[in-house]
Amino acid sequence: MDGIIGQDRALDALRTALRSNRLHHALIFHGPVGVGKMTTARAVARGLLCHERPEGEARWCGTCPSCLLFERGEDAAHPDLHVVTKELARYSDDRRIRERKLMTIPVDVLRRALLEPVYRAAQLRHNKVFLVDEAEMLAAEGQNLMLKTLEEPPDNTYVILVTSNEDRLLITVRSRCQRIAFVPLADEAVSRWMDAQTSDLSTDDRQWLVPFAAGSLGQALLVLEYGLVAWSRDVLPHVDAMRDNRCDPELGARMASLIETFAKQWVDRHDNASKEAANRRAAQLLWSMIGRHARGRLAETARQCTGEPVSDEPRLEPWLAVIDALQETERDLAAHVNISLVCDHLVSRMSRSLAQR
Ligand SMILES: [Zn+2]
Repeated sequence: MDGIIGQDRALDALRTALRSNRLHHALIFHGPVGVGKMTTARAVARGLLCHERPEGEARWCGTCPSCLLFERGEDAAHPDLHVVTKELARYSDDRRIRERKLMTIPVDVLRRALLEPVYRAAQLRHNKVFLVDEAEMLAAEGQNLMLKTLEEPPDNTYVILVTSNEDRLLITVRSRCQRIAFVPLADEAVSRWMDAQTSDLSTDDRQWLVPFAAGSLGQALLVLEYGLVAWSRDVLPHVDAMRDNRCDPELGARMASLIETFAKQWVDRHDNASKEAANRRAAQLLWSMIGRHARGRLAETARQCTGEPVSDEPRLEPWLAVIDALQETERDLAAHVNISLVCDHLVSRMSRSLAQR
């Protein structure tokens, strides 16, 4: 199994288990988006599905019928590798499921892609592997239906649940699986990856992007694909200007338009994506951008503080209030308040908090 930069602990645990043939039959790979969980899950599957895995090693032979499918890039057609994603809904017989914009993995999809085939014999007469991507998208009903399989799977069967939001898996699911933690990547690894992706980022943009990616290549990719560096240039200077009692009256509307544009592109690029989920994702990106900026300003201000509560508190308070405002806005968003209103509300709260009296 090739190394994914920065995931040494997770990979060591998996390699050791594979070498000694003691890999748990039900695994959870959890950790931030874009740090190599699914890539690793596919590599583990490849090792498990290999018919001639070298004794005591965590790799595959490269020449057996299973390996040949992977070698030829035909793993999507591998009869014993079952990848469950919410996108499978596209192939449902039920038109309502096919056309519904998905925020969950429908039970019907889970049934066809996992609950039923799990009890069939492996077609290549070796192991079967089931990978569930975005497992947190399984509603409680689907998770409950999996319990028996996770508890006592048929022979030669492995299930790997991949999730960036492990809290949304039921305790009963978690307790039946071995959990493997993936961690955020080091800034250096993100920076190196960016060099390979693009050469036209300015030093300033890069300095902003690498910490914003917070160790996630998925987040970094999102920034590059959706031009989020431009968001930071468009919005953050206006947040700073509020400290000088200047508030751009159009800021809320512009923020809403950035969110809408992102969501539209997202829905165009992802089959079955819901506009509502895409809006929320975009808004959360924007809030986290502003939040990171406010925490930076807070840290700068704290360094200038003298240790006198009377003079320090009024200087720290405005940025703390911005962070509170962002959290409150998160709740507005969860309550499905219209996105333009949410943005206007956030701007007015921030400008009140930051204005010098
Ligand atoms: Zn092989």
